[in-house]
Amino acid sequence: MTDILIKNGFVCLNKKIEPCDVLIADRKIAAIGTDMPQIDNVIDAARSYVLPGFMDIHTHMADRIGNYELADSYASATKLAVQNGIATIYNFITQSPAETLAAAIEKAQCKAMGNTYCNVGWHLTPTTFNDAAWNEIDDWIAQGFKTFKFYTTYKDAGLYCTYDQIKHIAKRLKQFNITLLVHCEDEYILEQSVPQLDRTNPFSHTRMRPPSAEWTAIEQIIRIASETGVKIHVVHVSTAQGIERIHAAKSTASITCETAPHYLYLNESRFQDESGHYYLCSPPLRSEQNQQQLLQHARNGWFDVYATDHCPFLKQHKDANKTDIQRVPKGIAGLGALAPMIFELYKQKGYAGIIDMAQKLSANPAKIVGLYPRKGVIEVGADADVVILKDGGTKRKIVSSYSDTFEPYHDFSSTLQVEYVILDGEVVVRDGKMISGKPKGMMITKGFT
Ligand SMILES: [Zn+2]
Repeated sequence: MTDILIKNGFVCLNKKIEPCDVLIADRKIAAIGTDMPQIDNVIDAARSYVLPGFMDIHTHMADRIGNYELADSYASATKLAVQNGIATIYNFITQSPAETLAAAIEKAQCKAMGNTYCNVGWHLTPTTFNDAAWNEIDDWIAQGFKTFKFYTTYKDAGLYCTYDQIKHIAKRLKQFNITLLVHCEDEYILEQSVPQLDRTNPFSHTRMRPPSAEWTAIEQIIRIASETGVKIHVVHVSTAQGIERIHAAKSTASITCETAPHYLYLNESRFQDESGHYYLCSPPLRSEQNQQQLLQHARNGWFDVYATDHCPFLKQHKDANKTDIQRVPKGIAGLGALAPMIFELYKQKGYAGIIDMAQKLSANPAKIVGLYPRKGVIEVGADADVVILKDGGTKRKIVSSYSDTFEPYHDFSSTLQVEYVILDGEVVVRDGKMISGKPKGMMITKGFT
């Protein structure tokens, strides 16, 4: 593979920015400095930022959720991701009651193999826990799976775990240094919150999944993290009370969390118009006041990671159930919005904002999934996943998905330009466009080859 020299950029090293050059050789960061050998293959990054490739550790695609297939395949989602600076995504593998974990892993990886334009890894959700199943789980951990996801709700889908079950699983997984991802909404509160609501009104969804369900479950999960010492990552925190509890618990528990751009930039006022049903997702969009508080906490640096919970459904599938909000498939697209919307959060802060962005979109997610410092940082020896960005120029539309989904950020725009993306030592995106039609992504954890 040809060596690449990135010259004259503002390079985001670990927690600092330096004007310097970066040499890429043999798919790795080979040298960083100002006195580099002359080579032919040079990228001029003058006046641009050079960052470690971004990661989105919470995405859904090529899967069936409830009654509907998701709108994005691995190909369509990862093509959009890499064009927006994302070098690695993490998807979910959920064991259904009728299959082994191995079968679930094989199914997902067969869909992905040869079809991904960025790197792909997976979090596992096993749903059976007898002795044989635990042996299988141990084997998959030995194969390199490092993150498992569990739910405090979704009884109907067979995903619900009691707090005691989660604690038991946490104790067992701790010996392997596994990180548990947890979806926090308290099942009991959700069950109590289904009065006679108007099923034609999207607001009803927010009443059925109140903020108290989230922060109550978060309190329980913090308790489990501090009692067991296991690393827990709370996914898609949507309430100010939730992040405030996590922030307060950082000194006593090994707990991290993410929020998604839609909780920072959208709120339940979106339910008022004709397109309200398109915005249904779980946890739901919250009040404007909550949204403003979340933004403030984000600016204070309280979230460890931003991830999209990209969960795209075709417009026709949302429309078909418009008159019954309980049947509308829940989830919104967001993959292509991650970098531009999070850049909005930080662009006023100059260098400090770019450093924060690299922490929350690269280093921290890589740490949570166990890939750091192989990924998530520009340092000698790291994988050569690099994104070169520039602010300015004409505003561009936000594109959250290439499929026929509703665009939740249709009234936002961005001046962030993705000039180059280097994936595994190879330039795959130039001026925001793919330079080759070939999918070049790698599978992070190969269960099957
Ligand atoms: Zn999700």
